[in-house]
Amino acid sequence: MKVTDHIENAAGKTLFSFEILPPVKGESVQNIFDAIDPLMEFKPPFIDVTYHREEYMYKKRENGLLEKVTTRKRPGTVGICAAIMNKYHVDAVPHIICGGFNKEETENALIDLDFLGVDNVLVLRGDAIKSEGRFVPDPEGHSYASELLGQVLELNQGKYIHEEITRNKTNFCIGVAGYPEKHFEAPSLKTDIKYLKKKVEMGAEYIVTQMFFDNDKYFEFVEKCRKNDINVPIIPGLKPITTLKHMSILPSIFHVDLPDDLVDALEKCKDNEGAREVGIEWAIQQSKELMERGAPVLHYYTMSKSKVVRRIAEALF
Ligand code: FAD
Repeated sequence: MKVTDHIENAAGKTLFSFEILPPVKGESVQNIFDAIDPLMEFKPPFIDVTYHREEYMYKKRENGLLEKVTTRKRPGTVGICAAIMNKYHVDAVPHIICGGFNKEETENALIDLDFLGVDNVLVLRGDAIKSEGRFVPDPEGHSYASELLGQVLELNQGKYIHEEITRNKTNFCIGVAGYPEKHFEAPSLKTDIKYLKKKVEMGAEYIVTQMFFDNDKYFEFVEKCRKNDINVPIIPGLKPITTLKHMSILPSIFHVDLPDDLVDALEKCKDNEGAREVGIEWAIQQSKELMERGAPVLHYYTMSKSKVVRRIAEALF
């Protein structure tokens, strides 16, 4: 079922959902089930599965020459989606990304997902790989999420690349990313919202936000979107803080601010256990307010660890 239908059927009740990462290459799918099992009693109608592009590095061969080695640290997004749907009978939402894929590979992945009965995709550009520093598109791929969105929309109309005639129409419901504190490359929030609006005008049916720790940033973002005629559901993404290191890691990786009160509380903690308690309480308070003010879904970034999100969900759902 489409994410938008789940939201509509909930008739104003806030839903619970979360994101998991495919296991690191070589780990068992059981790791993912172990992360999902404790969260199932909160009835997530859908579970997102991230996509990770290939990284490359140079290794020295015996003859002294450098060899380019490519590796995907977390393969298996499509397989994990199938496993989730089989085991839990909920919708799995794969993320699909521009980076590292040409159009043909993307089309093939979408065909697989359609055959598996996946109804939703979250369409993203993807980040730069470590060795490149800035996002570089595949020469035969897409530079922006909006271009990838265009390819999914074409497939929804039965238009495949290299095919003259219209074929089987897919019916993907498409979500896209939004950034209450703006995407780090955008010169301003206004410009970022302009491109977000473009994705929605093209056919994106819902938005999932980057994590934020100050609800006002989300409410202001929603207000600005509505003023710009972006009227699709805007699902808040929430990341509970679990370690002291998050104070520096989250702002540097995700380009988000931590409010003073949160930082003050974290700075008083002696260890990660204390920080985790502060993080859980902060996320509960954030969630409560978001629910009261009508957020359609609360979407948690679990990093495939469910203990903390379970504590939060127990307090709310
Ligand atoms: P875009 O919408 O393409 O925007 C990227 C930047 O370009 C923005 O600054 C935007 O303002 C600008 N822009 C957009 N269109 C144009 C245009 N036509 N001309 C000029 N500028 C333009 N990454 C992964 O690799 N795998 C994942 O599974 C994943 N899941 C995510 C889930 C969520 C909910 C979020 C919020 C992010 C996720 N990411 C993931 C990270 C995401 O890929 C990065 O944030 C990436 O840098 C931007 O992706 P986007 O889809 O927002 O890009």
